[in-house]
Amino acid sequence: KASQAPTTSKPEAALTPATTPAPGERMNATFVTLARNSDIWDISRSIRQVEDRFNRQYNYDWVFLNDKPFDEEFKKVTTSLVSGKTHYGEIPEEHWSFPSFIDQDKARKVREDMAHRKIIYGDSISYRHMCRFESGFFFRHELMNKFEYYWRVEPSIELFCDIHYDPFKYMKDHGKKYSFVLSLYEYVETIPTLWDSVVSFMKKHPEHIAEDNSMGFLSDDDGKTYNHCHFWSNFEIGNLNWLRSQAYLDYFNSLDRAGGFFYERWGDAPVHSIAAALMLKKDEIHFFNDIAYYHVPFTHCPTGDALREKLKCHCNPDNNFDWKGYSCTSRFYDLNKMEKPEGWEAESG
Ligand code: GDP
Ligand code: MN
Repeated sequence: KASQAPTTSKPEAALTPATTPAPGERMNATFVTLARNSDIWDISRSIRQVEDRFNRQYNYDWVFLNDKPFDEEFKKVTTSLVSGKTHYGEIPEEHWSFPSFIDQDKARKVREDMAHRKIIYGDSISYRHMCRFESGFFFRHELMNKFEYYWRVEPSIELFCDIHYDPFKYMKDHGKKYSFVLSLYEYVETIPTLWDSVVSFMKKHPEHIAEDNSMGFLSDDDGKTYNHCHFWSNFEIGNLNWLRSQAYLDYFNSLDRAGGFFYERWGDAPVHSIAAALMLKKDEIHFFNDIAYYHVPFTHCPTGDALREKLKCHCNPDNNFDWKGYSCTSRFYDLNKMEKPEGWEAESG
């Protein structure tokens, strides 16, 4: 087969070393990053790794979103690093502000109280807008409308292994709608009443709850209480049509109305995870064991020497979080009756 340079509209293309694009059909998919202009160098590191390990052979697009306009330097640097097309969008004000039904005094008191209690990001307004935006709006941004799948990338992440196939195509071919690489327990101080709101949603909209759901991942008493397990959403590959579905929108709206994005500090990770676990069928959620990943402070390094050698991984297997006590991944395996990879017990200490 003929070797071809990756297609790109950029004039510098002639200077980039030719890679052979991987054969096969391209999915209707994009990377998506929420970032500030000041994140430029940290997101550049992430992009470089995603490109080296995967995208330079696939050339998927990359959407960048920001609550402020991106500056020229941010656009120039990131466009030079991404092998696909880049798109830059500003977030509409309604998606990054206090809804009218939020009591500002009450929200301010909560922030002051959380600052005293030293709860991480507890005093931050922008972090709350970020969590609400990632929970309910990124998939409805106009730049995202034409895509079916997304892969979320944050600043300062690492990818430790080659990715030898197209994860978007894997999602499509296997009917997967949500995926993760790391899971853990949420800080309960940030979500004290989240589960109460989820329970009212389930009562109001039983039609949205999947029969073969993953309640067993979220709860140890059949839904009475939340065990705080969630998929870590700084990495996500997912189906945008699911997030844009009436079921997900009803869910988001009912949580938003409850006010916990501002009266507490609900994260998009538990919000997405609870939605996926309750509204998707078990087999629509996927664990990407072969995507080796780091976001401070946790690492997913695939278990098994042979796999790591084959994928040219550079992570230290001792740092793998999967089987440690604070990870929920073992629970995901048990719930789905999956066999754990050889060597998992040795890594659980
Ligand atoms: P953490 O991973 O929970 O510690 O939070 P991060 O600081 O990594 O923020 C999560 C994501 O939202 C990252 O992609 C950040 O670049 C982005 N982000 C956080 N705060 C803001 C903000 O105020 N404006 C914009 N545009 N992006 C933000
Ligand atoms: Mn982050």
